[in-house]
Amino acid sequence: MKICYKCGKEAFKENLCKDHYIENILPSSLDIQIIICKKCNKIFYHNRWSNISIEKIIKNSLRLKNKIKINKINIKIPEIEIIFFLPELNQYIKKNFKLKIIKKLCKDCLKILGGYYEAVFQFRGKIPEWAINYIKSNEDFIKLERKKEGLDFYILKRSSAEKISKYFMNKNCEIKKSFKLITRKDGRDVYRFFYCIKF
Ligand SMILES: [Zn+2]
Ligand SMILES: [Zn+2]
Repeated sequence: MKICYKCGKEAFKENLCKDHYIENILPSSLDIQIIICKKCNKIFYHNRWSNISIEKIIKNSLRLKNKIKINKINIKIPEIEIIFFLPELNQYIKKNFKLKIIKKLCKDCLKILGGYYEAVFQFRGKIPEWAINYIKSNEDFIKLERKKEGLDFYILKRSSAEKISKYFMNKNCEIKKSFKLITRKDGRDVYRFFYCIKF
């Protein structure tokens, strides 16, 4: 009888018992570091901030042997539980790992904190609920300010503001656009854009 060189029990494969064989073919640790924005939960991955999930990063980074598959990943930061499927043994194995988490502010949140924004939507008149809900759901919506004249919505990027503007144009809203020069940066004029919608 062949025996496991680690514990002396009956060997299953490669001079290891079943338990030690499984231990040997599964990853022993997750050498993954996650940089996450503490404000919006975006993740810095492949040199950019995005909404990629931790699950996807783990799946992309793990190199699994012996046709092992990931059946399920349960995330309770920083604890990770992975259920592997081992086709060779036709068996599911649960294993816990710890992630290295680094909390930072992404570049958008840094800008917002610095009071930066590129566009403002000024809702005036009898403002319908759907319009408020729509603009608030935009990923670049920063804050809402109540004014005597109506509601002002601050939008981080002009590209998002243009998208929002198109949406309201399709709803037959009348939009008055204007802009203000706010500063010069790297020899370039920086404008802030205003979109006034009367409902
Ligand atoms: Zn053993
Ligand atoms: Zn952020």
